[in-house]
This record gives sequence, structure tokens and C-alpha cells, in this order.
Amino acid sequence: MNQNTQKVAIVTGASRGIGAAVAKRLARNGFTVVVNYAGSAKAAEAVVGEIEAAGGTAISAQADVSKSAEVRRLFDTVQEVYGGLDVLVNNAGVMALANVADLKDEDFDRLFAINVKGSYNTMREAATRIREGGRIINFSSSVVGLLQPGYAPYAATKAAIEATTMVLARELRGRRVTVNAIAPGPTATDLFLDGKSPELVDRLAKLAPLERLGTPDDIAAAVAFLAGADGGWVNGQVLRANGGIV
Ligand code: NAP
Repeated sequence: MNQNTQKVAIVTGASRGIGAAVAKRLARNGFTVVVNYAGSAKAAEAVVGEIEAAGGTAISAQADVSKSAEVRRLFDTVQEVYGGLDVLVNNAGVMALANVADLKDEDFDRLFAINVKGSYNTMREAATRIREGGRIINFSSSVVGLLQPGYAPYAATKAAIEATTMVLARELRGRRVTVNAIAPGPTATDLFLDGKSPELVDRLAKLAPLERLGTPDDIAAAVAFLAGADGGWVNGQVLRANGGIV
């Protein structure tokens, strides 16, 4: 395929987990993909390698999304290399669990710096640069609906993203740009599995009526829908992709 006719997608935090699956899926669907990562250079290169081996086009690009200068540099690079941007997937995120009474300042600050400010940094760049017909896909979480003890600070970051999603959709009126959020339930990645016993993982997996954990590919399929032609009439929405857990 001629590179100039391909749409360009940035996927933040695409070195592992859901982001890596989204990058590969969008590449398979014909997008040129920018595989952003913070620290996992080798893993990001491996994702690019897999995409290229399957006939797709991708580059890796380091940027800590919580740092506005690094995000600006990322968008400048995409502009220079590919001439524009069509899809932004704000997947990069971190989780920390703590009851409100025990919350550490550094955990609160890191959650908001990466999950909220990180997405704001990229949305701000995309708001002025994304091409007509573009798509912005933010990442919330089904914890905004589940509201279990211990999840308050993480859920608060995702609630902020849900509110922002609708506001930005309205701010971009007239440019045929959609802004949506995807809200996965428990999904088998490091973020979900780290620190949990096999028994707890099994119990959480059974909570949804579909009685299993989500896979990164399940979530990538929903993102691909929002990024592709079939998702064009969905705007300002939160799509919970969670097997029916909430
Ligand atoms: P993950 O496996 O821990 O992967 C996180 C990714 O984000 C990595 O590629 C990591 O890159 C990147 N990242 C972290 N901090 C970053 C930063 N400051 N700048 C740029 N990239 C950064 O997480 P995941 O489970 O795939 O989660 C992806 C998204 O889904 C997150 O927004 C998460 O909140 C959301 N989510 C996940 C679940 C779940 O059950 N897994 C459920 C609901 C929502 P490096 O390795 O380079 O640091």
C-alpha cells in the first residue's frame, strides 16, 4: 500500500499489554502506527518488528506522556515523518491500589500525572493537529462503574478522562473528529495481574457473565471499531468492553 494514502495512528503505551495489541490490530487494519513507549524500548521495537513482518508500517517513539515537552516532540516527529495524524489512542496508564485512608502522596501524584495529565498532553496536541475525520480514543476503566474499595484514586483518574472525552468531542465540533473512551474490565496484562494471587485472579475472572478475563485482543477489537469506518457515528461515548461485569 502507498504510505501516503495510509492513515496514521499514535498508540501511547504500546510496548506491552493492551497498547501493543491495539498497535498490531490497527496496523493489520491498514493504519501506519506510531508505537509510543516510556521505558520499554526493546519491547516497543519488538512490536514494530511484528507489525513489519506482517506487512504493516510502524515506528517506535519514546515519550513519557506525563511530560508535555516530550509529547510535543512526539507529535512533531509524527508530523515530520508521516505528514499528519488521523488517530490518537490514549492507552498509556498506570494503576495503584490504596484505600483513601492509606493513600501515599507519590501514588496519587503518579496516577494523575500519567493517567490524566498524560492524556491531556496528547489531547492538547491532537486537538490542533489531528486531520479532519480523525478519531481520539481515550482509556477509562470499568472500575468507574464497579467502585470497589481500594480503587478510588485510580477510578478518579478514569472518571476525569470520561468527563473530558465528552467535553473535547464538543470542542472539536465541525471538524468531523470523534472523541470516545473505551472502558475495559479486568484484562490479562501486567497492570491487572501484578500483585494478585491466582485465586483472586480466578475470582475476578468469574465476576463477568462471560466468566473469563478480557484479553488485550478483545480490547483492541473494540478500539479498532472506534478507529475505523464502522465507528464513525459514535461520538462522545464511553464504551465498556468488559464481558458484562458492570
Ligand atoms: P500495562 O500492561 O501495564 O502496559 C502499560 C503501557 O503503558 C506500557 O506500554 C508502558 O510503557 C506504558 N506507559 C506507562 N507509563 C507511561 C508513560 N508515562 N508514558 C508513556 N507510556 C507509558 O497496562 P494495560 O493493562 O495494557 O493498560 C492499558 C490501559 O488500559 C491503561 O490506561 C489502563 O488504565 C487501562 N485499563 C486496563 C485494564 C486491565 O485490566 N488491564 C482495565 C481497565 C483499563 P513502558 O513499558 O515503556 O513503561
